[in-house]
Amino acid sequence: MKQYKMWIGGKWVNAESGKTYQMVNPATEEEIAELPLGGKADVDKAVAAARKAYPVWSKKSQAERSQITMKLAALLRQEAGEIGRIDTLEHGTLAKMAVFLAADTPDWFDWAAYGARSLMGHTIPVSPDTLVYLQREPVGVIAIITPWNLPLLMIYQKLGPALALGNTCVIKPASINSLTALKLAEIIEKLELPPGTINVIIGPGGTVGEALSAHRGVDMVAFTGSSETGKAIMSTASQTVKRLQLELGGKNPAIILDDVDVDAAVGGMVGQQCFNSGQICGSPGRFYVHEKVYDEYLEKFTAAMKKMVVGDPNDEKTELGPLVSAQHRDRVEGYIKSGIDEGAKLVLGGKRPTAPPLNKGYYVMPTIFTNVTQKMKIAREEIFGPVAVFMEKFSSDEQVIERANDNVYGLTSWVWTRDMARGMRFANEIQAGTVVLGQGRGGGPEFPWGGYKESGIGKEGSLYGMYEFTNLKRVQVDLVSPKK
Ligand code: NDP
Repeated sequence: MKQYKMWIGGKWVNAESGKTYQMVNPATEEEIAELPLGGKADVDKAVAAARKAYPVWSKKSQAERSQITMKLAALLRQEAGEIGRIDTLEHGTLAKMAVFLAADTPDWFDWAAYGARSLMGHTIPVSPDTLVYLQREPVGVIAIITPWNLPLLMIYQKLGPALALGNTCVIKPASINSLTALKLAEIIEKLELPPGTINVIIGPGGTVGEALSAHRGVDMVAFTGSSETGKAIMSTASQTVKRLQLELGGKNPAIILDDVDVDAAVGGMVGQQCFNSGQICGSPGRFYVHEKVYDEYLEKFTAAMKKMVVGDPNDEKTELGPLVSAQHRDRVEGYIKSGIDEGAKLVLGGKRPTAPPLNKGYYVMPTIFTNVTQKMKIAREEIFGPVAVFMEKFSSDEQVIERANDNVYGLTSWVWTRDMARGMRFANEIQAGTVVLGQGRGGGPEFPWGGYKESGIGKEGSLYGMYEFTNLKRVQVDLVSPKK
C-alpha cells in the first residue's frame, strides 16, 4: 500500500505524532493508501509556514502571481488523466466524468489569474480638497477546508482566487479522500512559489479543521461542507473574528409546473439527481410536481431511474457509482428508513445491490419516495444520495412557492415551465442563491454560487467570489497642505 506525506513549508513531512491512517476505495472496500494523521502541532507548523510566505508572495507583482497561477492550470491539465484516475479510486467518481472534471476544472485558475489582473479600485468624490480611493488587498493566510464530494473542484474554486490575489493557504481536504489534494501538492511543488505559499495538511475535521478555524495566524476560513460543520466553524472562528466564506448544504426544490415539456423535465432532473451518485450540494432535494402532470411525470421519472446502470465507476456503461464510504451509506440508508417509518411511499429502490460484484462497495440503488409531507425528515434534511423525494401534489403557484421556501436551506432551485414570465415570477419569490429555469446548461467560474439562509455566507465564482479573498481599504488623502 502506498504511503503518503503532507506538504508543509515546501517539504513533504509526516505527522508530528507519527500517526497514520488507511484510506479505502469505495467501489471495492480495499485499503488503498496510508496517510499521515495530522494534528494541532502540524496545523501550527503549516500556519507558521504560510505566515512566513505571506509577505513574500503578497508583494510579488500581480502579473507574476497571475502567471504562476496560470502555470498551475496548465500543469493540472497535463496531469488530468492521472488526477481523474485518483478521483475515481478514492471517491468512486465515474471514470469518464473524473477525467472530464480534471481537464475542465483548472479553468478556475485561469479565471482567477485573469480576474486578479482586472480588479480595479474606485475613487469617491468628496471635495476638491480631499481624495478618497479604495484599494483591494489580500486577506492574509487562508484556511481552505473542503468536503469529500467533489475533491478537486471544491479546492480549486477557493485556491484559484486566494492564490492569484496574493494570499497564502493551508488546505485541509476531507480525510476520507485526500489523495487528489496530495496530487495537487505534487504539482504545486513544480511551481516557483515561496515555500509555504500553499500547504496541504491531512487529518480529521474535529482536530485539524477546528485548530485551523481557531488559529490566530489564520485570517480567513474558506469552507465548503455541511451546515452543521459551518456553524461549528462560525462559532470557533468568532473568537478571533475571522473572515468566513461558507458554502453549505441544500435541500433544493425542483418545481415542475403544469405547462411543462414532461420529457425534457424528466431527462434534466434524473441527470441532476444521479450525478455523482446524488452527492452534490446542488442536487434536487424535493420534487414539487403540479397535480395536472404529476402522474405522467412520476411514471416517466421512475422509468428513467429504473434504467440507471449501477456499477463499477471504471466501466464506461456505468451511470451510478458507489457512495463515498460505509458511514455515508449508513446515513443515506438511515434516511430511507426514516422515510418508510414516517409514512412516505417507497416506489423504487431503497436497497443495496446484492449480486456480486456489487455486494462489495458502498452502493445504493436509485430510490424514489412519494407522498412526502413538509414535516417529514426526508423533506427537511439533506440526504446526499440517489434518493428522489416527491412531495405531495400542488395545485397553485402560491401554494408551491410557500412550500418550496419552507426549509432552512436556500442553496439552489429549479423551475420547469414553458412560460418564462411565470418562471421569472418564481425566480423573484424563491429564497435561494440560484434559481434555474429549465435545465440550466453551463456553469463555471463566471457564475456566482452561494446560498441563502443556512446554505451559507458569501459567493464563489464571478467578481463577487474574487472579492471574498480581498480586504477593501479606504485611503483618504487631505490635499490641503497642513497649516504651519
Ligand atoms: P462536512 O461538513 O462533514 O466536512 C467538510 C470538511 O470540514 C471536511 O474537511 C471535514 O473534515 C471538515 N470538518 C469537520 N468537522 C470540522 C470542524 N469541527 N471544524 C472544521 N472543519 C471540520 O461535509 P462533508 O464532507 O460530509 O460534505 C458534504 C456536505 O458538503 C453536504 O452538506 C453538502 O451539501 C456540502 N457541500 C456544499 C457545497 C456548496 O457549494 N454549497 C458543495 C459541496 C458540498 P473530515 O472530513 O476530515 O472530518
